[in-house]
Amino acid sequence: MADNKKNKRNSRNNGDNDYNPRFRKMRKKVCPLCADKNLVLDYKNAEQIRKFVNDKGKILPRRATGACAKHQRDITLAVKRARQIAILPYTAE
Ligand SMILES: [Zn+2]
Repeated sequence: MADNKKNKRNSRNNGDNDYNPRFRKMRKKVCPLCADKNLVLDYKNAEQIRKFVNDKGKILPRRATGACAKHQRDITLAVKRARQIAILPYTAE
């Protein structure tokens, strides 16, 4: 009985469990650090690290950077080091 109800509800989304019309066009991003093997993250390189923080100075989430788990950890570490040596702000405004 309960299963029947559940199936009826699920049948509405074309069998795709992740279906959400708001995110229909969202493409799977490829990790920028995996894509380019020559790209090495350097915490002293402000220009490079700045791409991984928003205008408030917060570290962007994986869904925004597109980085894999391994490289997101590297990015986080690099941003935190850059903040420590005053290359990046801890906070803006
Ligand atoms: Zn990666």
